[in-house]
Amino acid sequence: MELKRLTISSLHNRIARGEVKAADVCRAALDRIERLSELNAFITVRADAAMARADEIDHAAERGDKLPPLAGAVIAIKDNMVMRGVRTTAGSRILFNYKPPYTATAVDRLETAGAIIVGKTNLDEFAMGSSTENSAYGPVRNPWDTTRVPGGSSGGSAVAVASGMAMGALGSDTGGSIRQPASLSGVVGLKPTYGRVSRYGLIAFGSSLDQIGPFANSVEDAARILGVIAGHDPNDSTSSNVEVDDYVKSISSDVSGLRVGVPREYYGEGLDVEVKGKVEASIMKLQEMGAEIIDISLPHTEYAIPVYYLIATAEASANLARYDGVRYGYRAEEASTLKAMYSRTRDQGFGAEVKRRIMLGTYALSAGYYDQYYGKSQKVRSLIEGDFRNAFAKCDVIVTPTAPTPAFKLGEKTADPLEMYLSDIYTITANLAGVPGLSMPCGLSSSGLPIGLQLIGKHFDEATLLRTAHNLEQALGADFTPPPVM
Ligand code: GLN
Repeated sequence: MELKRLTISSLHNRIARGEVKAADVCRAALDRIERLSELNAFITVRADAAMARADEIDHAAERGDKLPPLAGAVIAIKDNMVMRGVRTTAGSRILFNYKPPYTATAVDRLETAGAIIVGKTNLDEFAMGSSTENSAYGPVRNPWDTTRVPGGSSGGSAVAVASGMAMGALGSDTGGSIRQPASLSGVVGLKPTYGRVSRYGLIAFGSSLDQIGPFANSVEDAARILGVIAGHDPNDSTSSNVEVDDYVKSISSDVSGLRVGVPREYYGEGLDVEVKGKVEASIMKLQEMGAEIIDISLPHTEYAIPVYYLIATAEASANLARYDGVRYGYRAEEASTLKAMYSRTRDQGFGAEVKRRIMLGTYALSAGYYDQYYGKSQKVRSLIEGDFRNAFAKCDVIVTPTAPTPAFKLGEKTADPLEMYLSDIYTITANLAGVPGLSMPCGLSSSGLPIGLQLIGKHFDEATLLRTAHNLEQALGADFTPPPVM
């Protein structure tokens, strides 16, 4: 049983007809997780709970019950989303023993739809990073080349799907953490519109930017998962009431007449020539399929990195104030005063990147500097949003590279945070503007590494992203299965 070869709908139908057992699919996933444990994709594996769930689905199929849409689909969850009673670490030492008393809405909806939650995946600590090297539980390795990073921060989820340990996964994306690892690992990853998916139960990083979304091996599977998790949730006041489209249905329409915007700022300095070549070849394909290609400009793109790293760190410094050794997780011993206990807990519990961000963010919010940094960033953020509004008056979807280069080597950028932050150059603008973005594989580099293409759409227009991506996926017709790793 090869998970990479199954789609969610074919599995659903085969289980319903009695041709396949959910238990066999689940066992195949668990075997694969064990065999590829060196990739370090999972922090927690729920072997017994997953098998029990698979048996329930098989019993339902035997009884002839109507099966829910994700019946038997093995799904992995980034370890910054809570599940009742299942250890949730956010990749941090400070939450090494945290067992949440409730379940995130997105996870709950997957389970209700018949998914088997196989485990919790590794990530950069509190989702801060672009390589999954900032995890207190060790780095994740890329299955295409184990000396390379899988991208981040949702590296474990991307690798679980890329290497057939799960059929789909959830990640979170604050500045690219679904799309960039999807690109570097050769899978589909979608960051929905801000507010499209409930964040109830997501451990907060940058609250004006965070969004949950799916990873999958095909656009159709991503559409199916999004359809299940999207929609309003009374437990998250930032979740939207906008009606959820039938994403699976919408992918089957063609792209003739679609206006595809190509922003010149995304194809300049710093972009690897092979990445540029593959993305441009895909744009040609869209044109051959009847899309109209339009030259556009997003003129404030050059400010996106500084603006993002001020807003995200400012919000993170506030969100992370709650980890003080009192309420959750790790507590430092041997402190004689309360203040000493707080500071030792935070000193020992947080890693270097998280501390750097707390310091940057606290500074940006401090009296006397607020207007100069946080306030000013908010103004420039409005200009970036305005760029997208103007662009979408001329086009229906925007095509860019997802990341400037294919997967880089482990350790290559850890000594230089700025170099690491530049990996997010093409992805963070969508978070700042709140618009949806999707990454899909569009080719391989000469050294055999996957290259990702990004589609950015209008607010709540995930349907157009998925339709465009599905058409392109069919036209490219390539198989993005990594070579056997070990
Ligand atoms: N790489 C970006 C950062 O380090 C984005 C992270 C994310 O989207 N969670 O902040």
